[in-house]
Order: sequence, then C-alpha cells, then structure tokens
Amino acid sequence: MAAAGMMRRSDSNGKEASSATRLQLIDEEQQFSDQLTGFMQNKWGMYEAGFDYDVVAVFGSQSTGKSTLLNRLFGTRFDVMSEAQRQQTTRGIWADRATSENSVLILDVEGTDGRERGEQQDFERKSALFSLAVGEVVIVNLWENMVGLYNGANLGLLKTVMEVNLQLFGGGGGGGGGGEGQQASAKSKTLLFFVIRDHVSPAPLESLARTLRADLARIWEGLGKPAGAPPAFDAYFDVRFASLPHKLLQPEAFEAGARELRRAFRDRGAADYVFRSEYRRRVPADGFPAYAQGVWAAVAHNKDLDLPTQQELLAQFRCDEIAAAALEPFRAALAPLRQGAQDGLVADGLGGAAQAMRAAALGDFDAQARRYHGGVYAKRRAALAAALDAELHAVLVAHVRNAAAAACAAFGRDCARAIGEASARADYAFAAVVGGVRAAVEAAYARAVDGLAFAGAPWSFGAEARQLAAALDAQTGELRAREVARVVARLADDTRAAMADVVAERLGGGAADMWRHVLAAFDGEAEACDARLARALEAAGVEAGGGEPAAAARRMHAALWDGVAGLLRDESADAAVLQRLRAAVEDAFRYDAHGLPRVWTPADDIDAHFAAARDAARALLPRLARVDAGASRVLHAEGFFPAGYDVARTLVLVAAGRQRDLAKRFAREADALFMEAKRSVVATHGR
Ligand code: GDP
Ligand code: MG
Repeated sequence: MAAAGMMRRSDSNGKEASSATRLQLIDEEQQFSDQLTGFMQNKWGMYEAGFDYDVVAVFGSQSTGKSTLLNRLFGTRFDVMSEAQRQQTTRGIWADRATSENSVLILDVEGTDGRERGEQQDFERKSALFSLAVGEVVIVNLWENMVGLYNGANLGLLKTVMEVNLQLFGGGGGGGGGGEGQQASAKSKTLLFFVIRDHVSPAPLESLARTLRADLARIWEGLGKPAGAPPAFDAYFDVRFASLPHKLLQPEAFEAGARELRRAFRDRGAADYVFRSEYRRRVPADGFPAYAQGVWAAVAHNKDLDLPTQQELLAQFRCDEIAAAALEPFRAALAPLRQGAQDGLVADGLGGAAQAMRAAALGDFDAQARRYHGGVYAKRRAALAAALDAELHAVLVAHVRNAAAAACAAFGRDCARAIGEASARADYAFAAVVGGVRAAVEAAYARAVDGLAFAGAPWSFGAEARQLAAALDAQTGELRAREVARVVARLADDTRAAMADVVAERLGGGAADMWRHVLAAFDGEAEACDARLARALEAAGVEAGGGEPAAAARRMHAALWDGVAGLLRDESADAAVLQRLRAAVEDAFRYDAHGLPRVWTPADDIDAHFAAARDAARALLPRLARVDAGASRVLHAEGFFPAGYDVARTLVLVAAGRQRDLAKRFAREADALFMEAKRSVVATHGR
C-alpha cells in the first residue's frame, strides 16, 4: 500500500519495516492525514469501539528512546533512530494501534533538535496542545540525569504542557454543558506518566519522583493563570512515575522493567492499571477522526482551542453525518410505499412497516449519536424525527385517502347490489341493509388504517375518518332519498291500479253522486298509503320526529293524485265522453222507468221523450268535465300537497272549448238516434 503508513526510512536493522499499520497523522508540513478514518476502520479495528478505547501520547526530548519505549510497551513499529547513524527523525506525529486486546491508540510525537529555535517551539507547542486534547495519558520521557536539572528546553516542555492544559481545560469555566453522563466533559483529567530512563544512580525512584513533583509545583506556581481562584494542579493532572535501567548497560534488567510497565498498560484488572475512565476524552471512536482533525485545524491555525467547543462542533458534524446515514435506508424502504400510495393502492400492514422503519432510523441514529454532546444529540434527534415524520406522513396520508376513496366506492357499489337483492323480500328494511354494508366498509377501512397512527406518531388521521363518515352519510342520504322515491312511485302505481275500476264504474254510471264515490275511494287509498309510507320511512331509517316524513308524505300525495288525475283524464278522452253521453241518451230513450225496453206506438209522443232523454244526457257533460273536489276530505286539506302544487289545474278534465265541441258532436249523434226511432215506429205501425 502506498499509504502514509509506509515507511520513509529504514528501521534500526536496516530493512524495510513490514508493518503498514502506522500512520503519519500529521506530516512535516503540518498537514493532517486524510486516512485516519480508513485506518481506524480497516487497520486498527477501532472505529466501532464507542467510548471503549484509549489514547496515549509521548513527550520528551529528541533521541531519548521514546519510540523504543512505545514499541516495547505497545508492540508498535515506530521508527527508532539508528544507533550508528544518529540521523534526524522526521518531524510530525505518528499513530499506531497497540497490539493489546484493548483498543489503544498510540501517538508518537517527533520533534527536531532545534534547527531554528522559534520554529521548533512552535511545533512543540502545537503538538502538546494536540496531544493533550486527544490523549488521556501523556508519557513524559526523560533521562535520569535530567531530573533536577529542569531548565532550558526540558523545563520549557513541561511548562508548555501545563500552559496548554490550562488553555484547553481551564478557560471558559471548565464546566462543560449540561446533559447526560455520556456527554463529553471538559473536566477530563490527564495522567502525566513520567518514565525515567537510564536509571543507574542509587537514588531510589521515590526521591527522583519527589524532585520532579517539586519541579512541577514550581512550574505550576509560575504559570500565568486565568483570573479568579488559582486552579489546583491536582484538578487537572494525576502524576505517576516509573524508571527503567540503562538499555545498553543492563539490557536484561531493561527488558524486565519494560515488561512490568507493559503490564500496567494492559492488565485491565490490575490495581495499577493505567487507563482510568476519568482520563477519557469522551469522544466516541467514530467521531475521533473528525475530532482530531478539528483540534489540529484549530491548533495549526493558532485559533482559540477549547475542548467544549471542539466537542460540540464534533457533535454537530457527526450527528449530521449519522442522521444522513440513517435517512438513506429509511428513504429506500419508503420509496415503494410512496409509489404504491401514488398508484392508489391500499397496502396491508403499512402501520407496522411505517413504525418499524421510523424506529429503525432513530435506532440507527441513537446507536452512534447518543454518545455525543447531549444537547446537540437531542436537538439533532428531534430534527431527524421531524424529517422522518414529514416523509412518513405524506405517504401515510395518501394511503389513508386511498383507503377512504376505496371505502366510498365500495359503499356505493355494495349498497346498490344489496338493495337490489333484498328489496324484493318481505322483511326488507333499507336501513338494516345499508347499515350492514356500511359496517363492512368501515371495518375494511379500519383494517387499512390500523396502526398508521402508532404510539408516538404526531398524527391521528381523525380528520380523514370524519371526512369519510361525512361522505358515507351523504351517500346514505342520497340512497335513502332514492329509496323513498321508489316507495312513493310504487304506492302511486298501486293507487292508480286500485282506482281504475272505481273510476270506470262511477264515471260510466254518471250518477249525480259519482264524485263522492270516486273521491271517497281516493281518500281511503291515500290514508292507506300514508300508513304504508310511514312504515317504509321507518324501515329506511328516516327519523319519525323531523320534517322529513311530512315532506315525503306531501310528495307522495302529489304522486298519488297525479296518478289518479291521469287516470281520470284518460277516462275523459273525446271518444269515452261521447260514448257515455250516447249510452245515457239511449238508456233514457229506449228504456222506461222500470228499465223495460219501450215499444213505441203512434200514440207516443216520441219527440217529447227524446227531448227529455237528450237533455238529461247533455247535463252529464259538465259533471264529467270537472272533478268535484269538494267531495274529498283530503284534496283541499291544509298541507296535503307540497307548496306550489296546483291542484285546481288537475280538476279540469274537459276544457270549455272541448266541451262545446263534444256537445255539438253529441247533438248530431242524438239526432241520428231520434231519426232511427221515428223510422222504426213508421215501419211497425205505418203500413
Ligand atoms: P526517540 O527519538 O526519543 O524516539 O528515540 P529512539 O527510540 O529513536 O532512540 C534513540 C536512540 O536511543 C536509539 O539508538 C536507541 O537504540 C537508543 N535508546 C533507546 N532506548 C534507550 C535507553 O533506554 N537508553 C539508552 N542509553 N539508549 C536508548
Ligand atoms: Mg522517535
């Protein structure tokens, strides 16, 4: 691989190192590597570690055996300066993963031996800032003969570490935001682990440590501190000490000492285990690359660097990334559902699927994002939930509308079919049939929308359910109106049929009281129809109390009378009227008062008889020409017909002009009848 991990130089044995797990995190041009995420994912297997990883950095003068120590302690393959060549190591920061079971990231900070003093100090300060911001344990590497001689560069390095620490953790109140326990805290402590090399003097470690502590206290005292109460050294640092024998003079003792140190860095169960949770920077592993890069960017450009801000920026960056990643599978799963909704389909079990998709997306987000700054996490989660809900709702509401439209269509179709099947049966009741269809349709709708308004969803689809109910109500109203019209038409037909005989008989008889009989029959039919309509309305579910039954009755009355009036008009055609007049004159002329046929003799006054018979028949015409409505109880009753119904118009059966015409025609026919009677008398008696 041509990765930055490839070595630029030979190792101490003169051959190319085979390990490609090292990464030059920050190069000599102070550029931050773009491969940290790839290394954490693929080479170090640390990306998914959450909070369960540690970071160690090493400080110390050039060529004091730092890289040698790291390689011993952690199994890393950092460059070690050749003893023969003593050449300058590359400036920069190298990173590698410890070969231990635990995820430990090691940072090897290389410096220069001051070609230009200002330049070196600048990098030293930047690398110290960076190492303290990202590392929880800082190994301070020094020779025994430096202890107590803290001046110059050595003193400066420790001073830099402490100053930098105050900048990172001491400024801005050092409180960190509120929020949950997982949130990054600005109060992380740092362990300064002093490793004293080439410990060859008889002075015990304790006395060396005492000297170093005194130096530290002096340096701390001398620092310019933020205004207010001077912070305590112990609030920021734990300090530990170890020493190693001379590597060249006591190689075996050196290796034994290194093994013991190595154990303290690896044995999680040990009382002296180095990594303690209070040192952790509380940056999730998957956020470490962005965090480290952000810190370095601020450091490299000499921007103000404080960890709470860095961690909040990191949280925003990572939470956005994680939310975007969580949206992808969600949108992929939603797409076919959206298409289905657009195609008007009504899917099954959509509620469960929607809920699962939403929960999965939030679960994906939570799994990674909850480790970040609590306030940022909560805000971004709410935004993600809102985005999910908006996209879900658009699809679900389309689906609900499809289900409602399907319910409306099914209701109309099924009602028509069910009414068609049931209306011929004796026990047919419109309301029961329509109610049954509606219950089935509403149950299907309820199944289709079941679970769509799942717990926690900010919608209920109550408005859609109300709209559907209103639409079904309206359809029911139309069906009921049609049902009532159908009942009324049938009653009108029945009435017309029942009246046909009475009308024919009474109008044929032409008696003076004929209208009384005809209209008495109509009154009776109308009353019977009132009772039948009331029963039909009840079966149709029309409320008895309201104005609807009365209006229906009035409409029915008009239909009943229209039917009978039509019947009467049919019976009042020219031919029928003439026929009745002719029959009347013949009856009166040909039969005597006892109903016996007359036999004319020359003595009879045929002329007078005929004149009487003809006048009696002609008197019938005005009686046939107009319904005597006064003979009915109901026709003129208040509110029997709908407003605007013109009953008077229906009472005229033969208009005046036609009456005159018919009278003329009748006179001619009567004359013919008279002539015939005269001839018969002459024929019988004349010879
Ligand atoms: P670094 O520049 O601090 O990383 O130092 P290196 O690890 O590259 O070592 C520099 C030189 O010191 C190499 O030649 C090592 O062999 C040698 N060295 C490493 N450890 C020790 C030690 O404990 N004592 C002595 N005297 N030399 C050492
Ligand atoms: Mg080195």
